[in-house]
Amino acid sequence: MVTIALTGGIGSGKTTIANRLAELGGVILDADVFAREAVAVGSPALRQIAARFGQQVLLADGSLDRPAIGALVFGDEEARRALNDIVHPEVRRLTGERLEEVLADDPAALVVHVIPLLVESTSNYDYEEIWVADAPARTREERLVEGRGMTREDAQARIASQASDDERRRIADVLIDTSAPLDETLDQVDAEWRRLAAAGLRAPETQTY
Ligand code: ATP
Repeated sequence: MVTIALTGGIGSGKTTIANRLAELGGVILDADVFAREAVAVGSPALRQIAARFGQQVLLADGSLDRPAIGALVFGDEEARRALNDIVHPEVRRLTGERLEEVLADDPAALVVHVIPLLVESTSNYDYEEIWVADAPARTREERLVEGRGMTREDAQARIASQASDDERRRIADVLIDTSAPLDETLDQVDAEWRRLAAAGLRAPETQTY
């Protein structure tokens, strides 16, 4: 099994790239999905969050009120750490479980772990490669406003709350240029995937003598 991380700022094209990699045979794991699953209604993590932050972080149906918890931890480092200490171990557990399933199913799987906040949230990376979807903030802002109907203020605030393009570039093994026309980006994705797949086939555990 070869695991790569795919990250990038909001609106940078992570989903577009992941969809292409799925078509090419990659197994896609999405950190956002695990993060939602970790705090599902009835989960131990959600109970701990309610115990720590109060019932006001729950909606009427018992699910997590994301804007409410977001507002509580915004600018409060201790609260943010407390929330992360509850959620992150559960996300790691769910991810590990899923990776074991994938490995059991196909020992030679090429796994793409989509982690939007890789730079912001992790200090040690355990991936064969880190791929970064890279487009200037200005381009991403336009796409969020034009393509997704976000207000300009909202788009700018979301972009500003994340790591900078330079911070992401520093950890990149592979930089996917998503400011190019889409077909050029997809060609680059295809080429990188072919390279990775060829290298993956030469990995010791799958080598045939
Ligand atoms: P989010 O962080 O909000 O989940 P994302 O990083 O997953 O966003 P996408 O959902 O893939 O980004 O959105 C990128 C948008 O930009 C899509 O509408 C896509 O069609 C468009 N786009 C235009 N040109 C490109 C390109 N060269 N590469 C990737 N996406 C592009």
